[in-house]
Amino acid sequence: MTVQVDVVIVGGGVIGVSAAYALCQEQKALHVLLLEARTIANASSSSAGDSRMFRCMYSREYFGRMKLAALRDWQLLEEAAGVGLLKRHGLLFYGDVETGETVQGSVPDAHRTMQRMGIPHEYLHAEQLNCRWPMRAKQGCEGVYEPGAGSVHANQAISAMARLAQQRGLEIREGEEVASIRRLQSGKMRVRTKKGSVIHAAKVVVAAGPWTNELLRPLGVQLDLEIWAVHWGHAWVDPGRREQYPQWYSFGRERPATWDGGLYYGFPPDSTEPVAKVGCDFAPDCRQFRVKSMADFHWEPDPVIVSFLEAFLRDNWLGLDSGLRDVRVSPYTMTRDGFFVLDRIPGMPEVSVFAGGSGRAFKFAPLLGRCLADLTLDRRPCFDVSPLRMQRSSVWLESNAQP
Ligand SMILES: Cc1cc2nc3c(=O)[nH]c(=O)nc-3n(C[C@H](O)[C@H](O)[C@H](O)COP(=O)(O)OP(=O)(O)OC[C@H]3O[C@@H](n4cnc5c(N)ncnc54)[C@H](O)[C@@H]3O)c2cc1C
Repeated sequence: MTVQVDVVIVGGGVIGVSAAYALCQEQKALHVLLLEARTIANASSSSAGDSRMFRCMYSREYFGRMKLAALRDWQLLEEAAGVGLLKRHGLLFYGDVETGETVQGSVPDAHRTMQRMGIPHEYLHAEQLNCRWPMRAKQGCEGVYEPGAGSVHANQAISAMARLAQQRGLEIREGEEVASIRRLQSGKMRVRTKKGSVIHAAKVVVAAGPWTNELLRPLGVQLDLEIWAVHWGHAWVDPGRREQYPQWYSFGRERPATWDGGLYYGFPPDSTEPVAKVGCDFAPDCRQFRVKSMADFHWEPDPVIVSFLEAFLRDNWLGLDSGLRDVRVSPYTMTRDGFFVLDRIPGMPEVSVFAGGSGRAFKFAPLLGRCLADLTLDRRPCFDVSPLRMQRSSVWLESNAQP
């Protein structure tokens, strides 16, 4: 039997759920159906996990402004859900000032953005860093501390948005993998699932993270996206220092010959056990760690990368030398310029797409969801998403049919 709805959302990661939440806030009641192949924010998605950093410290001011706008959405969501979703424990960016620009920026450029935007921050040199936190910062190392930064309770935020949207009519079907999306001659979109469901919708939102290209293929569009396998896990923390660690992000030199990408991060320790979430923010440039399709993704932690992470913690922090409790590998969907894709398919305004979260989209999710809802409802997005257009040279493949 064919089902008719107003909007189908494909993908129940943070972006699909945020778009659903925004669409269900509309005055006009819409029938919104979210199809998720596995479960909401499942373990293989990029949204899995209990925490995500938020910060203004970006080399590109665009993301700093986006974070300020998204902060308002997070606060409104907290009020609507009646739960605290943000923890404002600050964030320290530190490292060798000579590192240069990396995928996540650099200490001097983040500092310049903070100055230009007038955001409260402190600039600290190695000695000050070592006095304030249990660090082993070396001479020449500098840091910027953003006290207003913090982290989001990731899975709680997704659950809150899904619950509130369901209260306003959102239908969620888990275990329903979309097999194809096509435009019919009538102008309606037809979505088929692997279980055999057929849905007709006026509009479709594709929020399928690293699976985006599989879904866009029947629509004749492919994007230049690379899927990175990134390692993260939990490190044992010296219980005596548990209260002393900040949330941190470290910029070190990339050592390509050894696979060490030099970018590491950590969250403040857990309140219930002596562990802290830590991770590597890089994937070596080879087929084991960077792929084009999730069919080729390697889920097993690599012992060399794990040993880099352990060595980094031991060499840079006091009391983080007892090894890792667990390590996992998750996908980042990377664009070549680090900007996301948030746009309607050129020549096919019925389909809006978010892709290329580039390891940083979570903190902006409710705002990105609102922008997707605006595009879906043929409105101008509430935030300037022109840098995120699909048909830009770093993302749009020449092999795509001209719209
Ligand atoms: C380890 C890690 C740490 C990160 N840290 C941060 C951070 O500190 N701060 C920050 O802002 N961002 C961070 N990010 C990035 C952020 O989490 C991602 O950009 C964001 O979660 C992407 O969400 P998404 O909804 O686009 O994709 P996903 O979460 O991958 O969701 C896509 C969903 O689509 C579903 N799907 C796929 N194909 C189909 C289909 N055919 N039919 C139906 N459903 C389908 C999948 O099952 C999946 O649930 C991090 C990411 C990772 C992996």
